[in-house]
Amino acid sequence: MATITTLPTPSHAGEVLLAAEDVKKYYGDDRSPVLEMVTVELRDGEFVALLGPSGSGKSTLLRTIAGLITPTAGTVMVSDMPGDAAAHGVSMVFQSFALFPWLTVLENVQLGLEALGVPEPEMRKRSLQAIDLIGLDGFESAYPRELSGGMRQRVGFARALVVHPNILLMDEPFSALDVLTAETLRSDFLDLWGEGQLPIKAVLLVTHNIEEAVQMCDRLLIFSSNPGRVASEIPIDLPQPRHTQDPRFRALIERVYVEMTARPRGEPRTGPKAERFPGTGIGTVLTHVSSNVLTGLLEAVNEPPYNGKADLPVIAEEQHLEVDELFPAAEALQLLRFAEVEGGDMKLTEAGLQFAHGETDDRKKLFARHLITYVPLAAHVRRVLDERASHTAPKSRFFDELEDYMAEDAAEQTLRTIISWGRYAEVFAYDDNRQAFSLENPA
Ligand code: ADP
Ligand code: MG
Repeated sequence: MATITTLPTPSHAGEVLLAAEDVKKYYGDDRSPVLEMVTVELRDGEFVALLGPSGSGKSTLLRTIAGLITPTAGTVMVSDMPGDAAAHGVSMVFQSFALFPWLTVLENVQLGLEALGVPEPEMRKRSLQAIDLIGLDGFESAYPRELSGGMRQRVGFARALVVHPNILLMDEPFSALDVLTAETLRSDFLDLWGEGQLPIKAVLLVTHNIEEAVQMCDRLLIFSSNPGRVASEIPIDLPQPRHTQDPRFRALIERVYVEMTARPRGEPRTGPKAERFPGTGIGTVLTHVSSNVLTGLLEAVNEPPYNGKADLPVIAEEQHLEVDELFPAAEALQLLRFAEVEGGDMKLTEAGLQFAHGETDDRKKLFARHLITYVPLAAHVRRVLDERASHTAPKSRFFDELEDYMAEDAAEQTLRTIISWGRYAEVFAYDDNRQAFSLENPA
């Protein structure tokens, strides 16, 4: 039985503020848990980042820690601060905030305290402090529409900080901002944290941005998907401020890439060739990666100086791909047997090299063959279309089937992926208006 318990106040620095143990969570049925055996500890003074691909369950874990959802199994213990009625164990900063448009900045921030029953003068004082701290001084009476995206996100930070939480949980708080704004807010936050000015004791930051994680945190937990678990942990012991071009910084980035592409523990390192590739059934979630990205990546790895084998961080930077895009792309190429990925490197297979050297038509044929052979859902769609007299089938038919295995949005994404790959390879056609697959134009 899952429980959420409150620990007594820590008496000295370094005390455990959060202990999540063997947390398991599934939505709906238990065939595909989103989280499995997740154990995370956070101590006073720590800034920990949780890094993982999209859909790996990071938000689910944060929401579980925040008490917004109940774990299916396992325990989450968060220490509280008795004696201070307005203090909370945790509060959360989201990717973007639903600020109330009819409330001013001050009123939006005060909302964080209203629920806690703080008296009016105290509420006002603390809110003004939080606003001041986060760099919004002078904007107390502005309305959200008058603020830039970066400033609105600062209001979000102020709303989370105003409760003086022990632990600040941040769920990709910089990812909706443009690059420069994100950089400014990140460094402002780090300065305040470093100077001990924030009314918090520890931070847990969820991100899919490797550089951001290495830049900010003291310890990095690498999350893997299906099911989400902490696959490894890397201490980041560089002094602040950290410089992205520092060789030690680059070395850590490289190490993170290696860990993120490592084989999950317990899986055999040797064995028949087939074992090196991810196994799939019809119910495998396919992250959407366009054929353009796949083609571009194969071409880039094939070209000198790589000649078929490239370091992922290097190729990611060259191709301007973030982890969120790079890993699904690498995964797709593995699934299609065009590349192998391990230890931070991507190596093209024979077929991958052949693809990179081929002309458009040859490429499409090769892609079609691999799609049908290695992606069971593609083979299934094709088979259904072949067997039906009309050679058409509504999307809903496959959607219903996928829903037995995955959440609605995952099914939607998986179909979007199969549609774009199938179209590229001309294995089947898809009509957006009729929402139907057909064999109309395939080669
Ligand atoms: P992340 O934050 O790492 O991108 P999430 O925690 O948002 O991942 O989601 C993890 C998985 O759980 C995804 O496959 C998602 O589709 C599924 N999921 C998330 N929330 C729900 C929900 N309320 N009901 C069903 N499935 C969900
Ligand atoms: Mg998320």
